[in-house]
Amino acid sequence: MTASEIRKAFLDFFASKGHLIVPSAPIVVKNDPTLMFTNAGMNQFKDVFLGEAPAKAPRVADTQRCLRVSGKHNDLEEVGVDTYHHTMFEMLGNWSFGDYFKKDAIAWSWELLTEVYKLDKNRLYVTYFEGDEKEGLEKDTETFDLWKQFVDESHILPGNKKDNFWEMGETGPCGPCSEIHFDSRPDNERAEVSGATLVNADHDQVIEIWNNVFMQFNRVKDGSLHQLPAKHVDTGMGFERLVRVLQGKTSNYDSDVFQPMISFIAEKSGIKYNAAAKPGDEDWAAAVAMRVLADHIRAVSFAIADGQLPASNKAGYVIRRILRRAVRYSYQTLGFKEPFFNQLVPLLAEQFKGVFDELYSQKDFVQKVVLEEETAFLRTLAAGIRRFNEYVLPIQRIGVINIVDPETDMRELDDTKRNNAEDIANHRLSGNFAFELSDTYGFPIDLTELMAREKGWTVDIEGYEKALQAQKLRSRAATAVDTGDWVVLRGGDNTHFIGYDEIYTQTDILKYRTVTANGKKQYQLVLAETPFYAESGGQVGDTGVITTEWYDETKGNLTFEVTDTKKENGLIIHYATLQPYYTEDGPAEWTLPNPMPTRVYAGINQGHRIMTNANHSATHLLHAALKELLGEHVNQKGSLVNPDQLRFDFSHFAKVTDDEIESLERIVNQKVREGIPLKEERNVWYNDAIASGVTALFGEKYGDRVRVITFDDNYSKELCGGTHVKNTAEIGFFKITGESAVAAGVRRIEAITGYHSQDFIQNQARQIKGLKELLKNPADLSASIENLIQENQRLKKEQEKAVLLKASGLKDDLAKKAQEINGVNFIAERVELPNADAIKNLAYQLKDIVPNLYLVLAAEINGKPNITVMIADNLVKEKGLHAGNIVKELAKEVKGGGGGQPFFATAGGSDAGGLANALDKAKSFIS
Ligand code: ATP
Ligand code: MG
Repeated sequence: MTASEIRKAFLDFFASKGHLIVPSAPIVVKNDPTLMFTNAGMNQFKDVFLGEAPAKAPRVADTQRCLRVSGKHNDLEEVGVDTYHHTMFEMLGNWSFGDYFKKDAIAWSWELLTEVYKLDKNRLYVTYFEGDEKEGLEKDTETFDLWKQFVDESHILPGNKKDNFWEMGETGPCGPCSEIHFDSRPDNERAEVSGATLVNADHDQVIEIWNNVFMQFNRVKDGSLHQLPAKHVDTGMGFERLVRVLQGKTSNYDSDVFQPMISFIAEKSGIKYNAAAKPGDEDWAAAVAMRVLADHIRAVSFAIADGQLPASNKAGYVIRRILRRAVRYSYQTLGFKEPFFNQLVPLLAEQFKGVFDELYSQKDFVQKVVLEEETAFLRTLAAGIRRFNEYVLPIQRIGVINIVDPETDMRELDDTKRNNAEDIANHRLSGNFAFELSDTYGFPIDLTELMAREKGWTVDIEGYEKALQAQKLRSRAATAVDTGDWVVLRGGDNTHFIGYDEIYTQTDILKYRTVTANGKKQYQLVLAETPFYAESGGQVGDTGVITTEWYDETKGNLTFEVTDTKKENGLIIHYATLQPYYTEDGPAEWTLPNPMPTRVYAGINQGHRIMTNANHSATHLLHAALKELLGEHVNQKGSLVNPDQLRFDFSHFAKVTDDEIESLERIVNQKVREGIPLKEERNVWYNDAIASGVTALFGEKYGDRVRVITFDDNYSKELCGGTHVKNTAEIGFFKITGESAVAAGVRRIEAITGYHSQDFIQNQARQIKGLKELLKNPADLSASIENLIQENQRLKKEQEKAVLLKASGLKDDLAKKAQEINGVNFIAERVELPNADAIKNLAYQLKDIVPNLYLVLAAEINGKPNITVMIADNLVKEKGLHAGNIVKELAKEVKGGGGGQPFFATAGGSDAGGLANALDKAKSFIS
């Protein structure tokens, strides 16, 4: 069976058992602070297990793209070194949400593996949970008994809590699990050593392929386990491992999932791939490198396709680290000195066509991003590797001698190295050096560790962290923030958002806290109900006012000025400062009354909202116009909408031309003039929305119910949670003010609407009018300015000519003034020329026509004295005259200095009044 047949067989099998086949969730997780990337098939159903959302169907199956490179599940170090752990892999899974349980799950997994896939039963081992006394958990005899129907007892093994009790995290759903392992060793080895002894023992030919988790408990905060109201099944099978065993291979990389990629890399590098290479073999390093490249391109490409660009922090940095790790292998081990890693993208995209189309439809964009990153890193990589070797190799050498005679060897070490004497003895890279590599050369710390490990060294991680921390402290010292505890005024944690319909409400403060930043007090308030829109989807948060119903006889109401509104874990938080109250002596600061009043009036700043609405709706119109004009490859990559402007980033390879900008403005403004009413639909089924042709964003996880914003059914339809104009006419006038590049393959358009675009146009018109007036109202402004420029150039040229003419006139006059002294033709004169070049020319011309010349010219150029000395070559030799030395002496007269060659030298100074003296002095050098 080919890989795609194997995948299809899995999904078909579970469909035939009544499962709904659902799409994979994006690999990049948003809105979950505990997780950066999807690391298991169950992630997207977390809410269902927790009982927070209903299930789409009682039985579900899919293939989920997973990434295990950070957090609890991190397999990065294994990848490429072993043959069955990947960064990105597909997890085939089937789920029961309160429907079937152990009996069916076990029977079906056995049926699929042995009857559909026809795996050799003698090579399969299964496990069950042996129980845990401390937890008060009993042995899972039910699972044991169920397996006994199909499997010989010698192949059913007990497992401990680590391997056979699966937990989502510190708290949450959990339960015993049952794994299925496959032994792919040759018969003779199997006869000698039983596979049963190698299960869960890190043997690369006895590997886990499938895990069936029986979710039946919820672990709560105090550590105790409670029965869940319903029992669920959650299974995960590693697709690449399954393909490998079905295709009779001993490495995932030998299956058709990876072979095309490995062959391509081998061919391009001119190095043969030796799958059987062992550590220590000559071709081991290259084999690891090829596996790493073939693997890492998957993680990097899918992350980018799902919206996570490489960046310098958080999830983006994880992706950058993986990419740099691959590029280092490609450069150093496989010898690619030019960008190569990006060339794997098209191959991968082709491979996943029809499975995960997200990649294929963005393959050019993804490749471009990888290329750009790769190129940037290659620029410093070579230097970093050199620095690393320079540092490590001498230390290695000296390190050995060190032990013999520390005194002498210490002297050979430069300062940085001396600091690390202790590290040297321990074969450990100092933390400061690791920091230097990351700070100066962009080496992620795990890359430095990897390189050190290859040389048999370790890295002082603690020292590195310290250096990193010190840098962070340096850059953060000024902005310390002190956040107080929440003060709860009223129960409930759920804010009801009414801002789509209302701009004002009367409600209660649920809780508040005080935040002190830079000595200034600010408040964060949570309301029971709010018209304030919290920053999201690029739209900035609302501003406005929250005033208490309660008031003080003399001070009045307590009034908070809301400067921003943001979401935190689903809570809408109003960022506010307290307005002063007024006394005869001027404004005074409140102290919060005790008890704190609860009842408030909350109203948003309407001007702020109205302008923001206009910019947000204009963004939708622009998005549609871009797709219409440039093509369907245009996808939103980011946006910012505030009252002053809008900014829209999108995938596109070329600069948007001036003509295209004008077309975009025309299309959008046409839609504005049409006065299209807003169609806002809340709580639409996601699938219905997609079917109706709505624009959804890649990498965005939408709920089952979504909000659809439409301006003309045939023009713009987007999934959006933001606020909008009621009619496009409110946008007024749309004007693009900027177009630029933000990243590889990502362009940015900035634009304005409403009175801002009116101001902009008026400003431009005013400037043009001013220009026209200056130029006496020409019929054609551009032609008139063009004329001015040409006229200016012509005048410049003429002036240059005039100077030349003057100089050549001067030449003849000066030649006549030559005075013969001791066989030398001496000329010392003041000249009026506008620049040093003209004087130099004159001197050279005189040298040509006056034999035995000793020439000194003095001039004042822009108020500064200038002295030039020229001496015939034969005088230099015969009389030992030296223009450089002479000019130095003469320069003293003008409070300056200079120098040059024996035959020609110049000097400048600050006192032009001394020029006459300098000319007088000139004669003294020959008389
Ligand atoms: P292992 O012990 O081999 O690392 P695991 O216990 O971490 O596996 P689970 O978390 O139970 O695995 O994940 C379910 C299945 O996903 C595994 O049975 C395996 O087939 C597959 N799998 C897990 N991690 C990886 C990986 N890094 N690369 C490829 N497949 C994996
Ligand atoms: Mg694991």
